[in-house]
Amino acid sequence: MKIRRIIFSAWLLMFIPSILMSQTEKIDLNMIYKIKQEGQRNSAIEDLAFGLTDFTGPRLTGSTGSTRGNEWAKKKMEEFGFQNVRIEEARNFSNGGWDNLKTYAAMTAPYYANFACNPIAWTGSTKGLVKGEVVLLDIRAETDFEKYKGKITGKIVLIPSTTTYEVSFEPFASRYTKEQLEQLSQAALQQGRRLPAGDMGNYAAQMTLRNKISEFIRTEGAAVILRNSGTFNVPRSGNARYAAGNPEPIAELNLPTEAAGRMERLIKRNVAVEMEIEIQNRFFDSPKIYNVIGEIPGTDKLLKNEVVLLGAHIDSYSGGTGAADNASGCVVMMEALRILKNLDVAPRRTIRVALWGGEEQGLNGSRGYVEKYLVDSKTREHKPEFDRFAAYFNMDNGTGKYRGIYLQENDMVRPIFEEWIKPFEDMGVTTIAIRNTGGTDHQSFDAVGLPGFQFIQDEIEYDRGYHSVMDTWERLIMADLRHNAIVTASFAYNAAMRDAKLPGKPAMKPRTSVEQNQARPVPVMN
Ligand SMILES: [Zn+2]
Repeated sequence: MKIRRIIFSAWLLMFIPSILMSQTEKIDLNMIYKIKQEGQRNSAIEDLAFGLTDFTGPRLTGSTGSTRGNEWAKKKMEEFGFQNVRIEEARNFSNGGWDNLKTYAAMTAPYYANFACNPIAWTGSTKGLVKGEVVLLDIRAETDFEKYKGKITGKIVLIPSTTTYEVSFEPFASRYTKEQLEQLSQAALQQGRRLPAGDMGNYAAQMTLRNKISEFIRTEGAAVILRNSGTFNVPRSGNARYAAGNPEPIAELNLPTEAAGRMERLIKRNVAVEMEIEIQNRFFDSPKIYNVIGEIPGTDKLLKNEVVLLGAHIDSYSGGTGAADNASGCVVMMEALRILKNLDVAPRRTIRVALWGGEEQGLNGSRGYVEKYLVDSKTREHKPEFDRFAAYFNMDNGTGKYRGIYLQENDMVRPIFEEWIKPFEDMGVTTIAIRNTGGTDHQSFDAVGLPGFQFIQDEIEYDRGYHSVMDTWERLIMADLRHNAIVTASFAYNAAMRDAKLPGKPAMKPRTSVEQNQARPVPVMN
């Protein structure tokens, strides 16, 4: 009995240190202090933000602006002393290049009024200045096509609005309250935005009619198509489905809800509306999507080839300068690495920053990176770098400051992140949410079972401004971006220094097809 108890105790003692080790994250508070100081005192955030908004302008995938943005980012990374800096091919791009060269739209009757507007990307030009009556194309059913036959050829066509503008009593910008963060920390496993089953049929019917309307406008040969972009006082940007080499689609403009609404109401009350519009767009050869990459190489003999990856997408829509979406994420990731570089850290693992191209057209840059380095897209076999992938951190929710992090349902990292956020609790970073967050590049890594995360950010005025001409420098809060860079730098450092990589999610049997169909989310790209 006695001997057995001694053996048992000795056995237990052998394991106690390892049990304790696995529960304690070593945090280098000296380094956290230095990161905070460097990020506040020597911040490059404002300079970087200017570079990627006012200086480079909009960065639509495949456009001249996207090349300008990539080259600017590469130069900055080199100035900061990052290593292996490169602009790297990520994927083919079937849309090809598109630049807007001129946009003018005004109502000329019943009186003159000029309108803010934004051409839809990958649509064509007008034949010089088009002048004439605006036709409201009010097609709600198959039977409505007949009355417009032969009536819209060479005309300016206004598509009626499908939404009603409601006055908002909400503040434009807000930060998460304690109560909201508490709610966010509760397990409510949201799998992305989803249509209720009953609406699916309705949605499909609407899409079919929509496609028929587009086809009708094309074959009848309208001069310009006008759409109500449904946002407060500003036109949203958008893009047409287009494959390079096809005939250029008819010129198409997004108008603010107020402009489109005014003309729609006039026409419905039989007041003739006339406009003049000129749009010049340029299509050109641009068959690739690129990522901009730089790093601080790892120094540990065994771990230096493992990679901690920081990322954000550098492409934007063509309106505005893509400031909140997503210059903000790019400058935070670049600044996080600059902070570490300036502190002369010698990370055990390599810390790499990647600015993704083509996110808005389907996470192309990050998916291309996964295909190139991590998982074969055809065989699904892991490539050598897969096992050397330590963690991915993404930012793509606007300018708002980090308030915590989403676990992406990965319970295994909770005890680790709980320790990592402690030095930032008094800066408002308090919350760990089990739920998934979607719509952007961390999903490319999460989808193949690698630990990819996004931070919880104050929403500020993201929903109002993103993908619109209003997404400019004015949307950025520099203090929030400095804060985010400091937290990101610290997470990157911790991930690069700890003994083990961050745990991924254990593999599960594939879902049944029934579940898969039920769970298919409606994709929305941030
Ligand atoms: Zn985005």
